[in-house]
Amino acid sequence: MRLAVLGSTGSIGCNTLDVAARHPHHIEVCALSAHSRMDQLITQCLQWKPRWAVVTDPAKAGEVARQLKTPGCPTEVLAGPQALCDVAGHADVDAVMAAVVGAAGLPSCLEAARNGKRLLLANKEALVVGGAVFMQAVREGGATLIPIDSEHSAIFQCLPQDRQTWSQRVDHIILTASGGPFRQSDPDSLEAVTPEQACAHPTWVMGRKISVDSATMMNKALEVIEARWLFDLEPHRIRAVIHPQSIVHSMVVCRDQSVLAQLGTPDMRVPIAYGLAWPERMESGALALDWTSIKALTFEQADERRFPGLFLSWQALAGPLGSTAVLNAANEVAVEQFLAGRIGFMDIYRLNAQALERIEPRLGPDAGLYDLLDLDQRARAQVRQWADLHVV
Ligand code: NAD
Ligand code: MG
Repeated sequence: MRLAVLGSTGSIGCNTLDVAARHPHHIEVCALSAHSRMDQLITQCLQWKPRWAVVTDPAKAGEVARQLKTPGCPTEVLAGPQALCDVAGHADVDAVMAAVVGAAGLPSCLEAARNGKRLLLANKEALVVGGAVFMQAVREGGATLIPIDSEHSAIFQCLPQDRQTWSQRVDHIILTASGGPFRQSDPDSLEAVTPEQACAHPTWVMGRKISVDSATMMNKALEVIEARWLFDLEPHRIRAVIHPQSIVHSMVVCRDQSVLAQLGTPDMRVPIAYGLAWPERMESGALALDWTSIKALTFEQADERRFPGLFLSWQALAGPLGSTAVLNAANEVAVEQFLAGRIGFMDIYRLNAQALERIEPRLGPDAGLYDLLDLDQRARAQVRQWADLHVV
């Protein structure tokens, strides 16, 4: 299988290469990509010798090309965001790992979908922004869409293979959430949280953006929206519950109230290996669950005062077309501003809620990719302005 790893220098990208290295006869890495940390991309290219390296920031491409001009390195360096799409849809690529962070991953995901690829989707923002447009491209392009987000991989593993019968057999699904580092914090103390505290996740090691999203539970909000499209379920059939041990990765409650769950150590290599091997299984490198050390598996409701962001997902899903794209854009800007030390932790929620309330999507029923990207840009500009003026 010829695999393009988009976002190869990130947390998911590196885990994907770790799994791929265990299966050299099955997986050929033909493309890598990065937006920053060029040293890491160069090291990866020298190790994997892919056909293409995509540098999405064009200003950095020349230097990467110069450094890769060594005997025995066949890699061609492609520059700019369009090159991600060119690679994702290329006839010589069989599978695409979509591990770019944020809405920047949407165009290449769509291109892979339209060209019928096996699409391993880690980039949840693409689905939150793209929604129905994205799922239509998957259907029309004949792509095989396999979720990589651990909760959605869990649901996918519990559901029957026959997609047509999902909706009839399932009563609802339950996405589990770790609750992040502030699960037990006094809600009033959250105003003073620093980026370092927010990025210190108790059970998962992840990129900074998703780590902040886990701390606010906006990650779960995005995942509720992701599940709505992936599994074609009405929003009221999607629930979220806190499970601090991160061992039950999610659950399907069937019509007869039988509950199916997928369990394992919290290690993204498990859903990645499942995506690469599906419908088979392959070794992932993850440790086995140690049943002797698990004291308890506990579940609790998310407190609305501590995690108000979680509840914005159902609000956005009930809103006009494009509301989830507005929520995602607001959240990306708010997290970026928080990580830069410009706004407080709880301002992330305030900006997101304000964006949902005040920014009208104004999309027609036939809205396509460019309308969604326009809306994304409009929402970002507005939220950036609010953050600059401290209007939160
Ligand atoms: P990360 O920040 O560690 O890595 C992101 C990658 O995307 C890097 O290679 C970076 O160079 C590239 N990138 C950043 N901005 C870009 C841009 N504008 N254009 C093109 N490329 C760009 O992120 P991550 O934690 O690996 O997450 C990647 C995606 O997977 C996110 O959508 C996240 O929500 C999702 N996800 C991650 C995890 C996890 O455990 N890390 C779990 C589930 C889902
Ligand atoms: Mg997840």
